[in-house]
Amino acid sequence: MGSTGKVGSRSLRQVNRSVILDLIRGEDRISRSELARRSGLTKPTVSTIVDVLLQEGVVRQVGFEGSNSGGGRPARLIEFNADSAAYLGVEFGLHKTKIAVADGRGGICAVVSKPAAAGDPQRTMQPLKQLVVRALKKAGVPRSRVQAVGATVPGLIDQNTGICRLAPNLGWRNFPLRDALETLFQQQVVVTNITQAAAVAEGRLGAAQGVNSFVWLYLGAGVGAGIVSDGRPFEGTRGFAGEIGHCRIADEDVPCGCGEFGHFEAFASTMAILDQARILAARHPRSQLAHIRLDDIGSVLDAARSGDAVARRLLERVASYVGKGCAVLVNLLDTQQIVLGGDLAAAGDYFVRAVEHSIRENALVADAVGVVNSALEDRAGLLGSVLLAMDRSRQSYRLVADAHYSRVQRR
Ligand SMILES: [Zn+2]
Repeated sequence: MGSTGKVGSRSLRQVNRSVILDLIRGEDRISRSELARRSGLTKPTVSTIVDVLLQEGVVRQVGFEGSNSGGGRPARLIEFNADSAAYLGVEFGLHKTKIAVADGRGGICAVVSKPAAAGDPQRTMQPLKQLVVRALKKAGVPRSRVQAVGATVPGLIDQNTGICRLAPNLGWRNFPLRDALETLFQQQVVVTNITQAAAVAEGRLGAAQGVNSFVWLYLGAGVGAGIVSDGRPFEGTRGFAGEIGHCRIADEDVPCGCGEFGHFEAFASTMAILDQARILAARHPRSQLAHIRLDDIGSVLDAARSGDAVARRLLERVASYVGKGCAVLVNLLDTQQIVLGGDLAAAGDYFVRAVEHSIRENALVADAVGVVNSALEDRAGLLGSVLLAMDRSRQSYRLVADAHYSRVQRR
């Protein structure tokens, strides 16, 4: 009996501490009495917690409150010490492996990268240690300050085992990614699908701030969805949710990279669009498409933006397929917003409007669904990996209630 009482009060202290710390971190500067008012905790409880945080160097005192209307002594102000912690984010991309160093608030201080080595994942793991040294040096952050590491992969990560079941574009299959990284870093590592991580970042820092239910749709080398439902990432039983790219959206025999036909990805991946552009270039010699290098989606987007009718029609057709895929998501999830990420997020307003139009045509009820471009662009995955690392290492009250994180909390 006695022991459960102890555990109970200890976890209560941890919850109180995380509430206070979250409040301090969220403000520039704040007084103890304001902390008490906002947290609903008593002033002595707040003071005890703040004293410990001061001793640990997690927060520091910075001057006094300006206006002193009460006539008593001016209150000392507290601020979060962003140098008290650091986090690493790793992104295993198709072309590059990137490492970001972030401060205690999650602000990115430095990013370094090296060309990705497709195929054997060990070849990608080997140079990581050196890359981390470079990143920390660039950021001026000592290794000992790093509290957690987050890593993202364009593939399926089993959240129960940390195994990367399949990352087709990297050529990885059944690779024990979490174990490999934890051995390498000698530290906790959170491994996530890159689209799911990007969704988390977009919700907290980007275009979906304040939106309770949205889908972050990656439109690039592949097509995938990061689903946030009721403010929480939805990953499914193992972490494989969101593979909308491999759902059949058209009754056409267009082959998909996975071996099936008519999948969303077969119409909307950059590879699929470039294939179509080559066919159109041969058919329309006066189109810009016939005079540009068709190995980079950016040039097709540029041609459409500059008014080339053939390129514009091609991308509007792609948008109509994207809308069909989104309509499935809307019917299934009753989502509020679709955030377009990946290469096609740079297409422009006409593309967004065409996707919206297609959703209205194909979903049962879509009058309240908005389509927007990602505000984080190609930083979304890296930011997401940092945020997930922070979530893991902090004892946060928000996380106590969050089934997603408590499930992957192993230590
Ligand atoms: Zn497929």
